[in-house]
Amino acid sequence: MKEALTNPHAGYYTTRDTVFGAAGDFVTAPEVSQILGELVGVWAALEWTAAGSPPACRIVEVGPGRGTLVADMLRGVGHVPGFLGGATLHLVEVSPTLRAAQWATLGCGLEGSTTPSPPPPSLDGEPRAVAHAGGRPIPVRWHASLATLPPSAPPTLYIAHEFVDALPVHQFVRVAKPPPRGGSGSITRSGPLPRLPPTAAWRERLVDVRPSGHGLRWVLAPGDTPASRTLLPRRLAQLGAAEASKLDALELCPAGAAFAADLAYRVASCGGSALIMDYGRGGSPYGDSLVALRSHGAVPPLAAPGTADLSARVDFGALGDAVADVPGGCSHGPITQAVLLGGLGLTERLHALADAAPDDAAVDALVQGATRLVAPDSQGGMGDTYVGMAITPVGRKPVPF
Ligand code: SAH
Repeated sequence: MKEALTNPHAGYYTTRDTVFGAAGDFVTAPEVSQILGELVGVWAALEWTAAGSPPACRIVEVGPGRGTLVADMLRGVGHVPGFLGGATLHLVEVSPTLRAAQWATLGCGLEGSTTPSPPPPSLDGEPRAVAHAGGRPIPVRWHASLATLPPSAPPTLYIAHEFVDALPVHQFVRVAKPPPRGGSGSITRSGPLPRLPPTAAWRERLVDVRPSGHGLRWVLAPGDTPASRTLLPRRLAQLGAAEASKLDALELCPAGAAFAADLAYRVASCGGSALIMDYGRGGSPYGDSLVALRSHGAVPPLAAPGTADLSARVDFGALGDAVADVPGGCSHGPITQAVLLGGLGLTERLHALADAAPDDAAVDALVQGATRLVAPDSQGGMGDTYVGMAITPVGRKPVPF
C-alpha cells in the first residue's frame, strides 16, 4: 500500500497531478467548501489562545493535498491579532507534484519577495519560501516526513486531514475457532499441554504474485508472520477478550497508531495541539475496509497498483489507545464532522459568507457545500462518516470536544 501510493517512480500520489476534484479520482472535504478550512482555522486560533497566545508558533499540515485547507485556514485567521505574526508554516508532503500544487495555491514566493512567483525546481531546501495566502507573508517549509521536523520547538498546531487513511494496513482473518484450552491433545498425567497462544486461530492476509506470473492475488499466510506475532496479540489484548471473541477479521494500521503517538509526544513535550480528521469511527475496529478509487468509482485494489487511490477507514479507537500510552498526552473524541464543524461555528460562518455573496447562485453554492459537509451519509453528506479527534497535553479540553 505504501509502495503503491508513494513510490518515487510509480506511486499514485508521487506521479500524478490530477488526483482530487471532479476531473480526478476522488473529492475531499476541503475541496467541497472553503468553510472546512476556515473552521479548522477557528480551531487553530482557539488552541493557540488556550496555549497562552505564544508569540512564536508553528502550523503543520501533514498530507496537504492541493493546499486548499491550509490556504482557506490562513485566510480565515488573518484577522486574529498576533496569531500569524510569529508563525511558520510546515507542510509534510511526500509528492513533488503536490508540493508544487501547494506552492501555487498558497501564492508562494521566494523569501524577501512580496509577490507570488513560480516554484523553484526543488522545494526541499534553499531558496526559502513565503506564503501569501493569509494577506500577510508567512515563512513556509516542506518536509517529506514528520521525522525531519524537530519535535523541540515553539508550541505547534498539527493538522492531518484525510492523511491517516492513506497509511498502510495489515489485515488478519480468523481461520478457526480458538482451540480448547490446553490444545487438542488429551490431558496426560504429567499435566496439561501448554496453552496455545490466542492468535493461533488467525492468519495474516498477504499479497502474492499469481502462479501464472502475471498480476497479484490475495493469499493467507501459511503460519505466523512478524505482524501476527507482534501487532495482533497486542491489539487483541487492548480490545479485551469479549470484543476480540466477536471478530472474524481485523485490520490494523501500525503507521497510523505510531503517527498519533508521535503527535501526542510532540504536543506533550512542547505544547500545542493536533487535529486528525478522516473517515472512520471509534468503537469497533474494522475487518476489511481497504478500497481503491479511480474516477470516483471503486476498482479492485490489486488490479493496477499505482494508478488508483488506496485507502482504509481509520480506526480512531486504535489511535486513542496509542495516545493513551504516551505520558502527558491526551486524546479527545472522535466526534462526527457535523458536531465538530457545528461546534466551531459552521452556521454563523455560512450566514456571513451568504450575506457577502454577489448573487443567488453564489449563495446556493455556499449552502450546497456546507450542507454536504454536515449532512448524514444517508443524504449524500459527509457529516457522520467523517470524524475528528484532537490530541492535547493532559488537562486541556479543546473546543468543541
Ligand atoms: N489533506 C488533503 C489531501 C488528502 S490525500 C485533503 O483532504 O484534501 C493524502 C495526502 O497525503 C496527499 O497530499 C498525499 O500526497 C499525502 N501523503 C500520503 N502518504 C504520505 C506519506 N507517507 N508521507 C507524507 N505525505 C503523504
